[in-house]
Amino acid sequence: MARDPLPPGSTIGILGGGQLGRMVALAAARLGFHVHVYCPDPSSPAFEVAGAHTIAAYEDAEALDRFAGLVDVVTYEFENVPARTAEILGLRQPLYPDARALSTTQDRVFEKTFLREAGVDVAPFAAVDSADDLEAAIAVTGLPAILKTRRFGYDGKGQAKVATIEEARAAFRHFASPAILEGFVPFAVEVSAIVVRGIGRETLVYEIGENRHEHHILKETTIPAGIGAETRAAARDLGRRIAEALDYVGVLGVEMFVVRDGAGERLVVNELAPRVHNSGHWTEDGAVTSQFENHVRAIAGWPLGAVDRIGDVSMVNLIGDEAHDYAAIVSDPQARLHLYGKAAARPGRKMGHVNRVTPFAR
Ligand code: AMP
Repeated sequence: MARDPLPPGSTIGILGGGQLGRMVALAAARLGFHVHVYCPDPSSPAFEVAGAHTIAAYEDAEALDRFAGLVDVVTYEFENVPARTAEILGLRQPLYPDARALSTTQDRVFEKTFLREAGVDVAPFAAVDSADDLEAAIAVTGLPAILKTRRFGYDGKGQAKVATIEEARAAFRHFASPAILEGFVPFAVEVSAIVVRGIGRETLVYEIGENRHEHHILKETTIPAGIGAETRAAARDLGRRIAEALDYVGVLGVEMFVVRDGAGERLVVNELAPRVHNSGHWTEDGAVTSQFENHVRAIAGWPLGAVDRIGDVSMVNLIGDEAHDYAAIVSDPQARLHLYGKAAARPGRKMGHVNRVTPFAR
């Protein structure tokens, strides 16, 4: 849908009040937009940096209707926005990324089917709706395999590596939810592409980052990824193709595995995130335009900002009480500290991150 660019002074509505919403709100404010955050949690980190907020359930049709009347465009910071919520808001205001991006990415079977139909390599997979499907699913994926809930999984929750059909049955019983079985990909490196696509269909892809996880949570992203230059270019191409196939608007995170066969490298796409992405936080300090600003530009119908990186970058997440080390971190003048303003540093909770940029020599 072609649309006039939103002028500064317009209001961006954000569903979800976590750190991603907070960083989108900060970027929007810098461009002169007002921000209204909608989230059921009264202690949302994004509320502190937004001019207005609504505390209400995502199923509260009246509150959603009021919110829609106060904003000029709606976006979100998490992919589990209920379909009905998206529908109510989408009737009143432009919603970016759109309902198709949401429905495709919030269900792992729909997502992998879409990718396969778009000609993208994914792990062999099969839907598992009941325990009776497991045998046929294993015939498709082989063993070992990974059983994942179709919906609502994150940071390794709702997934289990299984080596036998008995383990698969036990995991399925434990999840008690429709699932997907995926072949185990013997990857060497995990990488991601951060793609941004404007309303005018201009598409840009940031440099590919390499992701290292600890306890299933992203710990560090390094730019550029330690893979061949050709593989990096192929990963960016893949990101662009996926955004185009979805006719996407906004920032899209594309997580991929790099498999090394002999001397070659091959890419297998694991997951899409229809939102700004943790592995793109380096762009705040290491790129000409951050992923957050580019998301705002995209959904406001503005031209995109350049995505060139200004050097090599490391982004380290501060998880749980690691955020208590802020004084030591800021005593390093090269470290750019970002804290999310969360009160309780629970184990496994993302509290902030640190970017370190080694600028290119002039
Ligand atoms: P996901 O929730 O799909 O992002 O998966 C979380 C993590 O589990 C990934 O970052 C991988 O490290 C691992 N993983 C997920 N799927 C597979 C797979 N099919 N093969 C090997 N490792 C996987």
